[in-house]
Amino acid sequence: MITGKNYIGNTLSNKGTVTYQTLNPKNNIVNEPIFYEATSEEIDQAVALASKAFHKFRDMPGSERAFFIATIADEIEALGDTLIHTYMSESGLPEGRAKGERGRTLGQLRMFANLIKTEHWRNPTISGDHKEIRQALIPLGPVVVFGASNFPLAYSTAGGDTASALAAGCPVIVKSHPMHAGTGELVASAIIKAAEKTGMPDGVFSNLNSSGIEVGVQLVKDPRVKAVGFTGSIRGGRALYDHAGQREEPIPVFAEMGSINPVIITQKALEIRGEEIAQTYADSITLGVGQFCTNPGLIIGIKSQELTSFVDDLGEKTATIDAYCMLHPSIHTAYERNGNEVINQKETTLVAEHTTTVATNYAQAKIVTVSGDAFLQNKTLHQEVFGPFSMVVQCEDQTQLLQIIDQLEGQLTGTILAEKEEYPHLASIVKSLQNRVGRIVFNGVPTGVAVVDAMTHGGPYPASTDSRFTAVGNQAIKRWVRPFSYQDFPEELLPEFLK
Ligand code: NAP
Repeated sequence: MITGKNYIGNTLSNKGTVTYQTLNPKNNIVNEPIFYEATSEEIDQAVALASKAFHKFRDMPGSERAFFIATIADEIEALGDTLIHTYMSESGLPEGRAKGERGRTLGQLRMFANLIKTEHWRNPTISGDHKEIRQALIPLGPVVVFGASNFPLAYSTAGGDTASALAAGCPVIVKSHPMHAGTGELVASAIIKAAEKTGMPDGVFSNLNSSGIEVGVQLVKDPRVKAVGFTGSIRGGRALYDHAGQREEPIPVFAEMGSINPVIITQKALEIRGEEIAQTYADSITLGVGQFCTNPGLIIGIKSQELTSFVDDLGEKTATIDAYCMLHPSIHTAYERNGNEVINQKETTLVAEHTTTVATNYAQAKIVTVSGDAFLQNKTLHQEVFGPFSMVVQCEDQTQLLQIIDQLEGQLTGTILAEKEEYPHLASIVKSLQNRVGRIVFNGVPTGVAVVDAMTHGGPYPASTDSRFTAVGNQAIKRWVRPFSYQDFPEELLPEFLK
């Protein structure tokens, strides 16, 4: 049952008077549950508990924390259809997506549980040439997690940030996303149940409601908080990063933010399978109403008859795909505002847009095109339009194409669409793109982020605030730890994992 209260450790609490509700964007109706915004006192209590819990949690054998994390997955699964229906009512996303995202969330939790069953992940190292020095990775301390609106499960309350931080031995305080507060509370209840069942210290997890920025800001500024995980907009991530940097003791903020995910399409690819690519990309651009951080928002090619046909084809195919509702009226408003800002630049041509009349909160997909010169000169054209929107840039030649790649901001992904006979000539594109992105996809689409060991989900700023790390896959645990060395330590004082 959804209570609308905060979880301060294992205790439900609603000391405040500020309340809010979520909205079903599909029928534009407010959902019933009322949520109580966390007060300053409740925030303080949650951090105090996390700080205390850290001392016990950090020293537990990995197998015990693994049991806790695996039990979280079981408890989320046990929420059954209640979770799925709440997810759908707060996001407007369809049942298939809800179930798919739940599967991904459970898979991530179980992957981290598996990882820490043994202590290899700590990378234990012994050097004995002069002095005996033993090194291993140890947790940082309490972590605050902010989830994004577009992944109410996989990048939210028990998403990758929470799973990896708990695996590392860090207590977690979640700043609940206001657009899916009910989904967040249900997942939080599963985490608390798992913590109680497996004997975890009170405060290992808290879930704080908030419909504004104050709760998050107080959390990031609290000196007992030692790191932050954020998934969301560049504006939000940057604001929190700046708060963390201005503290007396600055702390790391691992913010995964927006991206326009450039796609490079070669002449031969256009000639041989331009029509097929147009369909594949119309589907990718509109997948999940374009509300993916890996949405292909920028397609770059060199001017030709084939590129002109591709642009027309892509526009036609995208415009005919059924419209669907966005996550929230504010996301829809931002989509319209940012899309129109790009379309209203004098150099931009609107190729096609979905024109059928749509219901409130439904997005109409759009494809625009500009010249390479215009794109290079106008930074407004480089911004993320979060939704079913993409821009095709028509370059003069290969030199301009490389110049454009070099001038892009940091991105999560880059994609190359090319034919085998062109492979020997792609080195300069690969090299330029590698400098701007965290992952290059070859002959595919950027949407879809596999949760596997070799995944890099991150990239140069502003795709993320620290391009040395990934937010997806088991390497994500490295964000919450630091290397620590024991020099000439007596055996009995060493932790088990270094004996
Ligand atoms: P958002 O508006 O930035 O919100 C994310 C969270 O941060 C919310 O809880 C929000 O709280 C909080 N927040 C935002 N600005 C803040 C500030 N100045 N101070 C304190 N807290 C702040 O993002 P969103 O709309 O939920 O998500 C969409 C964006 O996320 C898109 O840009 C998308 O590309 C990106 N995204 C990135 C990834 C990735 O892995 N890189 C994955 C998914 C989505 P309030 O709402 O209460 O303000």
